[in-house]
Amino acid sequence: MSAGPTIPRPLPEHEGDLAPFLAAAREHRLVVQRCDGCGMLRFPPRELCSGCLSTAASWREVSGRGEIFSFNVMHQVYHPAFAREVPYAVVVIKLAEGPKITSNLVNYPVDRIRIGMPVEVVFEDVSADVTLPKFRGRA
Ligand SMILES: [Zn+2]
Repeated sequence: MSAGPTIPRPLPEHEGDLAPFLAAAREHRLVVQRCDGCGMLRFPPRELCSGCLSTAASWREVSGRGEIFSFNVMHQVYHPAFAREVPYAVVVIKLAEGPKITSNLVNYPVDRIRIGMPVEVVFEDVSADVTLPKFRGRA
């Protein structure tokens, strides 16, 4: 089978609401937004707290541990850069601290993924200035 041309993966931009999250990921830290009004943690970042409607928020580091809340196994190639990855899993992780984050599971057979499976964050340096938090199974 021909390797074919390498098509670069689309990467997130270091602008906007996710900028603090991506900056922390470059330092291999996982952070979520914390409401300065009531203390509730949330992800993805939002302008308003759904608990108290405060617009004041900051970022807080979390453990990176959690469990699989939901997942999809992708068999269809939706972008040519991911053609060699299929089948791969897109997972929703419920972090130990509460918020949910969507990511990928690494180094784990997709047919063995289960709801409730314990996972922990790993950081994949995908370019000189982009690091993506991903997850792996843990005992
Ligand atoms: Zn709040």
